[in-house]
Amino acid sequence: MHRRIAQARSLAARVRRPSHGDAVGLIYGVMAVLLMAYLVLLIVRPADQSSTAIDGWGVDAFELFAGVLCIVGGIRRRPGSVVPIVLGAAVISWGLGDLVFTIESLGGATPPSPGPADALYLGFFALSYVAVVLLVRGETRRLSSPTWLDGSVAGLGAGAVCAAFAFSAIVRQTHASGLGVAVNLAYPVGDVLLLLLVVGGTAVMSGRRKAPWLLLAAGFTINVLGDTSNLLQSASHLGVVINSAAWPISSAMLSGAMWLRPGLTDPLAEQKPPGFLLPGLAAGAGLTILFVGTLTPLNHVAALLATATLLLVVLRTSLSVRTLRAQTRERHQQSVTDHLTGLANRRRLFGALDMFFAQPAGDRPELALLFIDLNGFKRINDSFGHTVGDEVLGQVSARLARTLRPTDLLARVGGDEFAAMLVNAGVEQTATIAGRLSASLNEPFQFDAVSAEIGASVGIARTPDDAADGEGLLECADAAMYRAKLSSSRFAFYDRELDRGGNKLKLADDLSAAIDGDQLVLHYQPQLDLRSDRIDTVEALVRWRHPEFGLIGPLSFLPLAEQAGLMDRLTRWVLTHALAQCAAWRATGRPLRVSVNVSISDLRDPGFPATVASLLDRMRLRADALMIEITETSIIDEFERVQQAVSALGQLGVDVSIDDFGAGFTSLAYLNDLAVEEMKLDRRFIAPLAGGVRSRDSEVVRATIELGHALGLQVVAEGIEDDAALELLRDLGCDIAQGYGIGRPAPAGELSFDAMPAPAPARMLARRA
Ligand code: C2E
Ligand code: CA
Ligand code: CA
Repeated sequence: MHRRIAQARSLAARVRRPSHGDAVGLIYGVMAVLLMAYLVLLIVRPADQSSTAIDGWGVDAFELFAGVLCIVGGIRRRPGSVVPIVLGAAVISWGLGDLVFTIESLGGATPPSPGPADALYLGFFALSYVAVVLLVRGETRRLSSPTWLDGSVAGLGAGAVCAAFAFSAIVRQTHASGLGVAVNLAYPVGDVLLLLLVVGGTAVMSGRRKAPWLLLAAGFTINVLGDTSNLLQSASHLGVVINSAAWPISSAMLSGAMWLRPGLTDPLAEQKPPGFLLPGLAAGAGLTILFVGTLTPLNHVAALLATATLLLVVLRTSLSVRTLRAQTRERHQQSVTDHLTGLANRRRLFGALDMFFAQPAGDRPELALLFIDLNGFKRINDSFGHTVGDEVLGQVSARLARTLRPTDLLARVGGDEFAAMLVNAGVEQTATIAGRLSASLNEPFQFDAVSAEIGASVGIARTPDDAADGEGLLECADAAMYRAKLSSSRFAFYDRELDRGGNKLKLADDLSAAIDGDQLVLHYQPQLDLRSDRIDTVEALVRWRHPEFGLIGPLSFLPLAEQAGLMDRLTRWVLTHALAQCAAWRATGRPLRVSVNVSISDLRDPGFPATVASLLDRMRLRADALMIEITETSIIDEFERVQQAVSALGQLGVDVSIDDFGAGFTSLAYLNDLAVEEMKLDRRFIAPLAGGVRSRDSEVVRATIELGHALGLQVVAEGIEDDAALELLRDLGCDIAQGYGIGRPAPAGELSFDAMPAPAPARMLARRA
């Protein structure tokens, strides 16, 4: 109920607020109509007629009202600002002057000059000046120096023009002397100063903020017209019209300017570079005045202002030229720099290559282009986030740069891809540099508490043999890099035979054919159950027996399979063969279970659990013959899908294990919501346990094992390479152990199951290992 009332109130407030503005707007509308009517009256009325009621009281009342409205309307539009009050006071001061003048003129009397009315008129100038200065200060606080100078130039230029023409005419026409001259001079001087300020202010305001300023400038300009016409005591019809209408119009405009809402500055608007139009115009005006001064005598004020204008224009222009030059240089630098690493970017690399190939073929030195692709960078990015990823890229850049010669160009050409352009490097020197490059990345990368290993594969293309332009050279280097990656070499030179058309597309085709043509093979790695000292489970790990490159590890081609959309076929192949092998073992009386790795794209497929079920069925295996491993990072990426897939597999009776646990910082809340049975600690946790020494690292492992147990999971430790680590893990309460120290992955036929007597662990040796 209360909320309803509050809502209604706030609604009413919202509706009411614009109606205030509308009311004031309406008043200004009526004032405009009155002014129009007055103007028409002045025009149609003979020049020598006037009425005290209209030209006297009426105009006085109008001006005073405009002053009051300026304060009332302005305060609402510019809360907290004293400008409307001061300007309103100025207009009121003028109105009072007019009022005094009207009273003094009653009965056809001639008011004294200078008299009390003049004091009030001059009060207008003083107050207006203060108001405009405050307004300029308030609105230009954040302006750059060229903008400031623009304002000054425009103001001075306007002042010079004003002084040269209106002002000098006024002075010449004034016949009074002493105080009279001083007072009469105060008007044009006041006008010139005000106009100077307002024109300057208008020039520096941008867009919608300009509107109030334009109205102010118009108001003060009309004021100048009125003053001029008054001082010239023009008796012409036009003179009388201007004389009578100028001040009421001007006061309405000044008042309205305070009421106009100053537009908001648009934060998205592009900062306009300083223009040259305004200083140009002012310079033109200044020059014209000085030129006229050489023909006819000119007053000193005008000459001084014109000279000052020109000097400022020179200053302003040289400043702009300097700014523009600096901007151009900076933009060029930015456009060829990789913002993350500060290395050259792709554009810079291609610029350099184009320059190289623009030389006559005979004069070109030898050139080698190295394409460097990081291995395992995506994993770091996925596990630790982009901030760490960015930092790693920075460290990688620094290391790469250190291994190159000062004359070589290192560029970052893509996410985790770099290129180095080596001019004047023979085959041998290039090979040395490439070896150094990849060796420089072998040291683990350190950031905060974690360390990560990143390797790189380097492909090399050379002129003139491999390509005749930059684009071609980079393609060749890329193809060679891919071969290096697949064959686990640190670097490879482009080879026309091997890499012919050898891009990723062709490799994807190769991989697709490999799946169909049974070029894939499975190796199995045993898992030792520390509770029973028996080997119950083996993990199936895929390899690609490539006809040209030999046996390729999964980390080299799984990303390709993922990219090329081949993952579902690959997983199906692995599942089929792993389950067939499992069935074969079971047929010979060995009750093993296989553990198969699946990727996130498999879990995304809603048909995946059904595929698993039908394959189990085909091999006549129970669901507990299979374990599915999913990596922790894939869980983080798409938790809901993973959750669905895991529960569907659970319904089949297939257990699920979280692989590489600890690599991705899964929130414990997630872990609790996932129906998994097993947790496999990432190798990174186990590596420091080599040698079996207890340390902080082993405490982390102990706590993680306890956590797994608390969640009802069995815990597997991977990457155990020596007996000491195995014993330590047994002590820490680990359930299952896997690693080279227990057995390397090997083809099914090469595994042997020689159990060792307890308490030493049962040992299963791969004969190849
Ligand atoms: P993973 O699932 O963590 O597999 C363990 C990896 O660690 C294997 O590398 C294995 O050879 C290696 N390893 C085992 N014991 C030790 C040890 O004591 N020390 C060291 N340094 N390494 C050890 P591999 O075979 O190269 O497999 C790499 C990754 O490829 C696997 O990591 C898994 O994520 C993925 N993978 C392998 N086969 C498949 C598959 O059939 N399907 C999918 N989706 N992924 C697979
Ligand atoms: Ca695994
Ligand atoms: Ca693992």
